[in-house]
Amino acid sequence: MAFEGLSERLQETMKKITGKGKVSEADVKEMTREVRLALLEADVNYKVVKDLIKRIKERAVGQEVMESLTPGQQVIKVVRDELTELMGGEQSKIAVANKPPTVIMMVGLQGAGKTTTTGKLANHLRKNSNRNPLLVAADVYRPAAIDQLETLGEQLDLPVYSKGTEANPVDIANEAIEKAKAEHHDYVIIDTAGRLHVDEDLMDELQQVKTNMNPDEIFLVVDSMTGQDAVNVAESFDSQLDISGVILTKLDGDTRGGAALSIRSVTGKPIKFAGMGEKLDQLEPFHPDRMASRILG
Ligand code: GDP
Repeated sequence: MAFEGLSERLQETMKKITGKGKVSEADVKEMTREVRLALLEADVNYKVVKDLIKRIKERAVGQEVMESLTPGQQVIKVVRDELTELMGGEQSKIAVANKPPTVIMMVGLQGAGKTTTTGKLANHLRKNSNRNPLLVAADVYRPAAIDQLETLGEQLDLPVYSKGTEANPVDIANEAIEKAKAEHHDYVIIDTAGRLHVDEDLMDELQQVKTNMNPDEIFLVVDSMTGQDAVNVAESFDSQLDISGVILTKLDGDTRGGAALSIRSVTGKPIKFAGMGEKLDQLEPFHPDRMASRILG
């Protein structure tokens, strides 16, 4: 299960403080030391941990705790609030264009789960918001990726616009948007090319698609199992493309939690959804408060 180690350690730490009728500075010091170690072990970015611990410390020795009737529980609330804030605070909703279709560009490295997530997102929009999305296969370098999206479209009974590997991604995306307007699709979700590593050609191509499409959302799909690498990938994509949000996949796996806890703070971009399994209905809106509660038990 995701966050297992982190969760166990933090719960252990919180147990020590929970019933305390008085919380001393020494208690806070001990608690923050343990929280710090647990987060570092979960592969949370060093600087993120440092800032977080500073905030927790300041609040935990402050008035809100000292004047509380249940100081131990108040300290735990501080930790919960700060973890929630770290992951973005409020849940971040998906954009809706003033004039349909809303255009979503999906980007990410190969293997992160981009194509699967494209299908999942379309399914989510149809099921939960009654939308009528059009999927677009714009990874023209990998016939397998196009086939994969077409298969997903068949499984979901949703249309997929594709032109094989001969056309260029900008033309494909433009034509898809025209088709969406003509056929009244309110969302267009473009599955763009992925590579094994971030490289200049890929970024150039994605920038061209972005400039042409002027998408309402650019979602970066990252594999939460890759920890700090996921954070580095997010930083590079964001610096090149100014992404609008992150979708974290494989949160059903035994990820330590580093990516989920660092990405928002490092990139400033919200985590919008979490992939919770391979099935097409296993995509969930990301709720920072629920995630923090899950971690703290
Ligand atoms: P792409 O290369 O980025 O398009 O990646 P794919 O969509 O082909 O996904 C790569 C693998 O990750 C596939 O086996 C997917 O089933 C799997 N996958 C994607 N999202 C999730 C998820 O949230 N949880 C799990 N367990 N597997 C996932």
